[in-house]
This record gives sequence, C-alpha cells and structure tokens, in this order.
Amino acid sequence: MSPPGRPKGEYRSAQREGTPVDPPGRPKGEYRSAQREGTPVTASQASPVAATPAPLVELSRVSKRFVKSLDVSARIGNLLGAGLREEIVHAVDGVDLAIKPGEVVGLVGESGCGKSTLGRLAVGLLPLSSGERRWQGKSLAGLAPDAARRQQLKMQMIFQDPYASLNPRMRVADIVGEAPVAHGLIKAGEKSEYVAQQLTRVGLDGSLMRRFPHQFSGGQRARIGIARALAVKPEFLVCDESVAALDVSIQAQVLNLFMDLQSALHLTYLFISHDLGVVEHISDRVVIMYLGRVVETGPTPELYAAPNHPYTQALLAEAGKVEPKKRTFVPIQGEIPSPLAPPPGCHFHPRCPYAMPICRTSAPDLREIAPARWSSCHLNDLPR
Ligand code: SF4
Repeated sequence: MSPPGRPKGEYRSAQREGTPVDPPGRPKGEYRSAQREGTPVTASQASPVAATPAPLVELSRVSKRFVKSLDVSARIGNLLGAGLREEIVHAVDGVDLAIKPGEVVGLVGESGCGKSTLGRLAVGLLPLSSGERRWQGKSLAGLAPDAARRQQLKMQMIFQDPYASLNPRMRVADIVGEAPVAHGLIKAGEKSEYVAQQLTRVGLDGSLMRRFPHQFSGGQRARIGIARALAVKPEFLVCDESVAALDVSIQAQVLNLFMDLQSALHLTYLFISHDLGVVEHISDRVVIMYLGRVVETGPTPELYAAPNHPYTQALLAEAGKVEPKKRTFVPIQGEIPSPLAPPPGCHFHPRCPYAMPICRTSAPDLREIAPARWSSCHLNDLPR
C-alpha cells in the first residue's frame, strides 16, 4: 500500500506531512527486521512465524465482557415491571493470538474495537471472562501469588498518555526505581545508579532523576514511561498507542528507540495503534481487529500489499495517500456498531460493500488463506 514512488517502510505519518522523516542513518525501503540485522530481506523471508518455534505469549479463545449491573433505582423499576436488564459490553470476543519471542505484532483497529482491552488481557491487567492465557506454553491461570508476581514482571505495559501515566507527585527516581526495589531486583542503596542507567538507556540524562514529570517535554515523558517499564527487566511489552500523543518528529524518535531497545534487549512487543503507518514501520506481523474479533492477520509486507478482508481494505484505503496533487481518501462507510449490541453474523456486515445474506446470520471463521495469512470473510469460501 505504499504509494508509488515512495519506498515501503517509510514512516507513513510523514506522508501526511508530505515530507519523509526516516531517521538519519537508517536505510529506507527496507523491512524493519532487516533494519535490526542491517541486511535487507524479502517479504517472504520476513515472516517471523517460520523463524521461531514456540509462542512466548498465547491467548486462546479469550473473551472479555464488562457487565453494568442494575442500580437500586433500576431494581425498584423492575419490581414495578420495567423489565430492565444488565448491560453487557462484549469488548473482546473469542480471540486467538500467539506471539513468538522477539516478534513485533501490530494490533490495529478503529477506536472501540477492543484492541486496548486485548492488550490489557495479554499482560494480565484485566481478568479474562473466558479463555486461557499461556506463557511459553504454560497456563497462567491459578499461579501461586509469588509465582504470579514474578511472572507479572516479565510482562509490562506502556500507556498512551505519557503524562497521565506518570504520578505527578513522584520524582523520576522513584517512578523508575520504586518497582525494582520493591520486587527485590536491586537493593535500595543501588537505586540512584540503577535509575541513571535506565534513563541513559532511553536517551535521557541520568542527572535529571530528581525532577518531577511536569518538568519534562512530552517526548521525554514517553521515554520515562519506557524506562519505568524496562526497569523490571520484562520480556514482553504491550505498547498501547504509545506514540499517539506525540508530535510526528518525536514519534519517529520514540519509534526508533522502541526498535533499538527491542534489538538490544530481545524484547517481544504487542504494538497497539490506530495509525497504519506506525504499525507498518515497526511490526513484523499485523493483526486487524473489528468489534472485539480478529478479522485478519498476516506478515506486514504481504498484508499491506494485498489486504484480504474488506475491513482491512477499507482501513488501508481510509489511511489515504498523500502525494503532491494526488491526494486520495476513502472513508469507511458508517460507524462502528455498539459493542453493547454487536450485529449478528459477521460484525462488519452493516458496513461491508460485499455483504451477502449469509453474512447477516453466520459469523465467518478465521481461516488460513495463504501461508501465515488468516482472514475471516465468507468471500474466501466462494468458489474461485
Ligand atoms: Fe463482508 Fe460478508 Fe466478508 Fe463480513 S463476511 S467482511 S460482511 S463479505
């Protein structure tokens, strides 16, 4: 989906500005894994699925429902025959997701599709309504408190708003150093030196650790959030719209920091974003979500070059291309339906230009349409 004349992998937000912002010293037009290795790879070589055997994190048929119970007045109303019911938000609906060690998976979808909820389920910030979470093949359900705490350190989350996610009353030294001391990773007397190391690693001056969050810029606060997550030596990071609140030029710097850290520390990322350009830039594999379900997944170059699911096609068309005198923008028709009452059958059918009668009654399975490519659409069942 890269526009003609512009190399693939170039940071798409720059396309909106009409100027490339590829970082200095980084090769353009090369797939990000190649950037890590310093050698170009082809799209077919780039599939991370073939490179690593067992998943690090695995979500199996995971669902999350939020129930709004009836309050006292509603219960009294029901006694008088009002017939009110609890409201149930189906935020995540039977999702399977396996992430291999060292893989960067981009999770994409419109606001309200459940991608942030899925990220929180993946790191254990929210309990599952149903399904199973596994780490290196072992179930994470029913761990003893000590084991659960140790396990939790391996999975960290970096939040969207770099200001709201930092305690404004705490100095950076405490924000970054509190958890490693509390979990016994370092001694209290080593905190200052350790925090300085963490800050230096994310490109900040260690001598600033006595400052409060409001004394930093947005990009610096994002780096503090990253340092805090890395301070407990995680293996898996969920980055929830972690660059969305930043200016375009700062976004590029922070994205490069993510990629450098991933390479240096062998991290595994679930990178949540609504910005297809950011995801294309950083991800090995892309997962597209719509109204709580995964509708398509595949290696980044293949999926961007030939999206299969009509929703993915619409998302990529909506992202548009900005070239001088050649601007295109095709908005997706309609609004995302309420997760309180998702449409039956294929959730996308009210907005899909190819909807058929079966789409209104039967939900398509997510099935393999090509090696490492999965899509859930009844169009794939039609004879070719
Ligand atoms: Fe469109 Fe039907 Fe495919 Fe859903 S299953 S995306 S409604 S064609």
